[in-house]
Amino acid sequence: RTVYLNGDYLPETEAKVSVFDRGFVMADGVYEVTSVLNGKLLDFPGHLKRLARSLAELRMGNPLADEDWLAVHRKLVELNDIDEGIIYLQVTRGNPGDRDFAFPPEDTPQTVVLFTQAKPGLADNPQARTGLRVVSVEDLRWARRDIKTVQLLYPSLAKMEAKAQGADDAWLVEDGFVTEGTSNNTYIVKNGRIITRELSNDILHGITRASLLRYAAEAQMQIEERPFTIEEAQAADEAFFTSASAFVLPVVEIDGVSLGGGKPGPVATRLRELYLEESLKSAI
Ligand code: PLP
Repeated sequence: RTVYLNGDYLPETEAKVSVFDRGFVMADGVYEVTSVLNGKLLDFPGHLKRLARSLAELRMGNPLADEDWLAVHRKLVELNDIDEGIIYLQVTRGNPGDRDFAFPPEDTPQTVVLFTQAKPGLADNPQARTGLRVVSVEDLRWARRDIKTVQLLYPSLAKMEAKAQGADDAWLVEDGFVTEGTSNNTYIVKNGRIITRELSNDILHGITRASLLRYAAEAQMQIEERPFTIEEAQAADEAFFTSASAFVLPVVEIDGVSLGGGKPGPVATRLRELYLEESLKSAI
């Protein structure tokens, strides 16, 4: 694989980062994941906008102009011959030389890394036909989940807890309400209405979520943005989640309670089709 590191395109074995890098010792960095379908980038302007916001919230500069981010993404798609897959982008506060809680001087170069992961079958995912099983896990993450930082230890632990319970993923719960999944935004459907938690610092402002809600509204579907509990989700007609790499995937079991007879429902199935169709139209 060819990866991008600080302006260079290198074989992955030659791309090296300092042991002092703040991304490594302090999880001081942000990231984005953009999916690629038919060799094109989905929802790309949304990902760049959120990247700029995450960087600004952490008082980090944006190392590249938007057109340069696009050029690097396109170059990696081309060099690695990606038809279906994802591009991972990470910016850290760089290598200060010594470990220190205080930020390094402003002129310390940031570390910019991008790499691709080919994922054949991303669009034609069999999980879209079978659905996934989730379990609830207490949300013990920090209070700024709206910033897409590389600090992913708790979501990783929650995912392992879900796997230990024989499920596919965890839905995180705080003060009795679902915040989101370990790496996705969560939804339920009741009497045709799509219910999803409203945006705040409690959840990541999903780019797939924003696009999907726009497409759903344009298709005259009813949307309610408010928190819901695990009990309400278990009594819903359908449940599903969204993320850049999953698009829309149905959930058919929550904490051992099956939904819709254990099969993906019509709304989640339609929304997946709608998302794929519409996002491909604006893919670049
Ligand atoms: N919520 C969390 C915690 C995530 O990590 C992600 C994606 O990685 C999402 C939601 C979905 O965001 P997006 O649709 O922009 O991928």
